[in-house]
Amino acid sequence: MDFRLLSDLPENLSGKFILLRADLNVPVQNNEVSDYTRIDRLKPSINFLKAKNARIVILSHFGRPKGQPDPEYSLSFLAPILQERWSSKVSFSNDCCGEKTEKDKSLLKDGEVLLLENTRFYKGETENDPAFSKELARLGDYFVNDAFSAAHRAHASTVGVTEFLPAYAGCLMEAELDALNKALESPAHPVTAVVGGAKISTKLELLETLISKVDNLILGGGMANTFLKAQGHEIGASLCENDMLDTAKNIIEKSKSQNCKLYLPVDVVAADDFAQNSPHETYKSNDIPSNRMVLDAGSKSLDIYKDVLDSSKTLVWNGPLGAFELEPFDKGTNELASYAGKLSQKNELISVAGGGDTVSALEKSGAASQFSYISTAGGAFLEWLEGKTLPGVKALRH
Ligand code: AMP
Repeated sequence: MDFRLLSDLPENLSGKFILLRADLNVPVQNNEVSDYTRIDRLKPSINFLKAKNARIVILSHFGRPKGQPDPEYSLSFLAPILQERWSSKVSFSNDCCGEKTEKDKSLLKDGEVLLLENTRFYKGETENDPAFSKELARLGDYFVNDAFSAAHRAHASTVGVTEFLPAYAGCLMEAELDALNKALESPAHPVTAVVGGAKISTKLELLETLISKVDNLILGGGMANTFLKAQGHEIGASLCENDMLDTAKNIIEKSKSQNCKLYLPVDVVAADDFAQNSPHETYKSNDIPSNRMVLDAGSKSLDIYKDVLDSSKTLVWNGPLGAFELEPFDKGTNELASYAGKLSQKNELISVAGGGDTVSALEKSGAASQFSYISTAGGAFLEWLEGKTLPGVKALRH
């Protein structure tokens, strides 16, 4: 890695303040945190810094308040939860800069944590305002960024603050970058990418990048329908982006010239409606009835995809193969994910997955924990796969 890591910090940080950018933008349902992954994955950095006697001041955004305080987006509810999950004393400051926060900070003892209020309560955060960045920087002696999932945004708490403090990558940031580098920058070949999800239009740049980097590209989900139609198949009532047919044809041609083998479903599960247990059957991809919609890959396709994984050394996965929220149309995603999980457990495959719905689809399949690495990031994971430089990562290279 070409930037400083936590191991580069001084041995003893007693009396020193670490300003730690975390991503505590956790999913909440009925006032309960519904997934603790982001919280738990911060624990290595917290433990490392506590072991060095540091005083830890945490910055995070939460939701999308409009640049001003909004109780709906307060982070206060998280302090007791962090305290429990991290087995550390965690207090809360109801601002993220200014006099009150300076006072709260001064009460911290070695090894204790202070969680600050949502950084997006200030416009300066998303505007990456230097004056606001400087205010934030006053709260630490060192800055640690452990929020890979927020690194695609050039905000004050991810980028601006690095102008004023020496910056380090936290353990989670390091793990995310390491896994992504292994998967795409210097991967073991053959590399296979699985890209599913609803639409080509949201993943166009991703597809363009992947065909230049991977050996096999398996396309699933709604976007595969558009590709099938571009190849001249009738796709009945399936989700399709008709304005993307030429784009799909281009991608098919480009993949040939770049030696990337493209896989589309040879058979599909098509149903009457986009609904749980809707009447359905498996059809060959050139025999889809006009009144039904494709909601999953068929078993012959899955057999082919499994063979592709058998001969692959690296897998990058983004997006479900079908309408995974609706049973039984989650079968394709579940089956291929379980297969990839098993190969990974046998050390025959390095598998990396991430981006939005992917993680929940893989969690639902029960195979997530068997993958080599599951990214905590949504947008940042996709932008990284697209080959973009993430501003929050670049800023660590000062
Ligand atoms: P994305 O956010 O682009 O990764 O897309 C995920 C969404 O794609 C999920 O809500 C799936 O239900 C949906 N999806 C996957 N396959 C299909 C399909 N064949 N038809 C309609 N929607 C689908």
